[in-house]
Amino acid sequence: MQPPFYFPDIIDEELLRNDRSIFADIGADIEDALTRDQVAGLRISDVGNCALQQWAKCHNEFTMPRDPTTQWSRLMAGSLFGALLGRIFKAAMDRREVDCLLEREVAIDGIPGHIDVTLPEYKHVYELKSNYNLGPKKPSFSHWLQAGMYIDALDGDYTASVVLIQPTIAGTRPRLYEYPCEDVAEIIEQSRRESLRLRRASGAIVPPEPDVSKDEAWRCASCQYGRCGQNKNPLKGKVFLEPVAA
Ligand code: SF4
Repeated sequence: MQPPFYFPDIIDEELLRNDRSIFADIGADIEDALTRDQVAGLRISDVGNCALQQWAKCHNEFTMPRDPTTQWSRLMAGSLFGALLGRIFKAAMDRREVDCLLEREVAIDGIPGHIDVTLPEYKHVYELKSNYNLGPKKPSFSHWLQAGMYIDALDGDYTASVVLIQPTIAGTRPRLYEYPCEDVAEIIEQSRRESLRLRRASGAIVPPEPDVSKDEAWRCASCQYGRCGQNKNPLKGKVFLEPVAA
């Protein structure tokens, strides 16, 4: 069920306490967040990947490292914000004696993943996502698919929210938004289709056709598969002598 509180309010309330002891364990959280997804193979966080990109990831066919600028300014920054807000939220839940799990490990159809925040008592999960646009943004379809795979992995009787962390929004507008999932059954059904698409792409013997959608064209700017003609990664064309990690 949807918990009787709003994620952004809980963060504000906890920070107003100014209790810095809540950050005692954050070093390990950050290290975990920055190193967790460095394994090859299909993961729940791959939802929305282009079929060809996913195939290349699972067949050690990446020809380029991740672009360092994209890494620190987007992917790593998102991991840091997620670890920070997860820890603050957990501290507030601990005060309320509400069980709160960070980075709970789950698997669905053999695909492993970690849920950012789980509240078993409310059967609710939070997926934390960062957006660095100057204006607010609603969750993307991929965000919902990822949340759907997590609640399906928890036997489907959970609810979910996507929390958008938007630190660069100008002015006095909120920079943290919670979007509760309005149709859990629908999102689970869609996520099952996505799981099938990803498993097909990952296991394909020959490279599948790219199927990146217009809304997700940004993926081509950070894609590590340089043999695709649509690749716009700034590192394209450079030669890398060392093996390239996923
Ligand atoms: S460059 Fe774009 S279209 Fe090509 S494999 Fe990568 S994500 Fe897919």
